[in-house]
Amino acid sequence: MKQQILIIGAGFSGMWSALSAVRLLDQQQRLDVAVTLLAPQAELRVRPRFYETDLASTVAPLGPLFDTVGVRFVQGSATQIDAASKRVTYRDASGNQAELRYDRLILASGSQVARPPLEGIEHFTFDIDSLESAQRLEAHLRSLGQQPESAARNTVVVVGGGFTGIETATEMPARLRAILGEQTDIRVIVVDMAKQVGGALGEELAKIVADASASLGVTWRLGSPVSRVDKHGVQLGNGERIAASTVIFAVGVKASPLTRQINGERDPHGRLHVDRNLKVLGQDAIYATGDTAYAAVDNLGNHALMTCQHAIALGRSAGNNAAADLIGVAPIAYSQAKYVTCLDLGGWGAVFTEGWERKVVLTGKEGKELKTQINTQWIYPPVADRETALAAADPLIPVVA
Ligand SMILES: Cc1cc2nc3c(=O)[nH]c(=O)nc-3n(C[C@H](O)[C@H](O)[C@H](O)COP(=O)(O)OP(=O)(O)OC[C@H]3O[C@@H](n4cnc5c(N)ncnc54)[C@H](O)[C@@H]3O)c2cc1C
Repeated sequence: MKQQILIIGAGFSGMWSALSAVRLLDQQQRLDVAVTLLAPQAELRVRPRFYETDLASTVAPLGPLFDTVGVRFVQGSATQIDAASKRVTYRDASGNQAELRYDRLILASGSQVARPPLEGIEHFTFDIDSLESAQRLEAHLRSLGQQPESAARNTVVVVGGGFTGIETATEMPARLRAILGEQTDIRVIVVDMAKQVGGALGEELAKIVADASASLGVTWRLGSPVSRVDKHGVQLGNGERIAASTVIFAVGVKASPLTRQINGERDPHGRLHVDRNLKVLGQDAIYATGDTAYAAVDNLGNHALMTCQHAIALGRSAGNNAAADLIGVAPIAYSQAKYVTCLDLGGWGAVFTEGWERKVVLTGKEGKELKTQINTQWIYPPVADRETALAAADPLIPVVA
């Protein structure tokens, strides 16, 4: 029987883990090891684009790519990880339970939007965390066009003023006007706990976010949390009430709940602490990658963020190193010194920063051109050609040069 590398998840980190594992096994001519990937769909869902209107183009099929390189795809959702017996239980597409065994496991099941325990959050809020939730928001926005004009209909509240909240809010004026008409008196309001706009982003970037918000008519309510949501709007902790038919939560993400099934230390986001080769600390056969891994990117104390920029590189490293460990060749320590951001600011353009201090390098139209290139080309899967795809999975290729 072949030895098994099992990957849970077909996002950025899972897809790249699969390709890099196959790449190394191919190089070492190890036909005795199989790579299997378990996920609900054989497709890469490009989460960084879920604040956009055109959601159809945010899904890239992976079936032909997996077939070409020889990754076995199993459709299903993992429900239980048993590290002692090296088995994963999953529910298949028909709801039946089944099992997969592994010699090395790579957990690449990503993350989910954090949902604080607030009254009304389950029934009266939207998010853009998954394809399904982004589609639900888009359908709801379209339905506003059939409703009679009111302040609530014309108002979108975005809760959370970090990267995702800002991209969602700054895109919203154009999305709303396309549905409600150019002359409609729309309101887009970001509610954030910070004392200043873009409080957590660094001073230079925060100032640009404030300018872009002002030019797009996006306003901010700062320093007070949302305390309750109902059908007609939100209540803030400071007593203010905002009438709104659309409330979108973007208050950060939590690592996949599967992380809790693995014994090990976790960071406040639920990510598993891993060593430099991305093996979960305290485990001998389990690797974590992408949004499930709390991984050092350098020797200076910086750690990977829950971004696709990190998930791509973490994936290439995890796949390579899990395969290397299994067949007894030297691993390549994960390292990703360069960190950039490219923040979409809707009709204002976009802003590109470099370094952990987020030094602004490009803004406006130039920033937007780069953002479009990143979001529509760079982060998409390689073409379904064996040689090209495996070459692209080299863990030494920097995501950002
Ligand atoms: C709206 C939004 C905007 C963003 N913008 C940016 C950005 O501009 N730049 C950036 O770098 N990052 C951005 N991100 C973050 C980025 O999308 C994530 O960091 C990235 O997707 C993480 O990759 P991953 O492979 O770890 O997880 P994911 O991409 O989430 O993939 C997880 C995979 O695991 C599967 N899975 C989950 N549970 C199970 C299970 N139980 N069994 C089997 N499979 C399972 C899922 O179906 C999926 O295939 C954004 C995210 C969002 C939501």
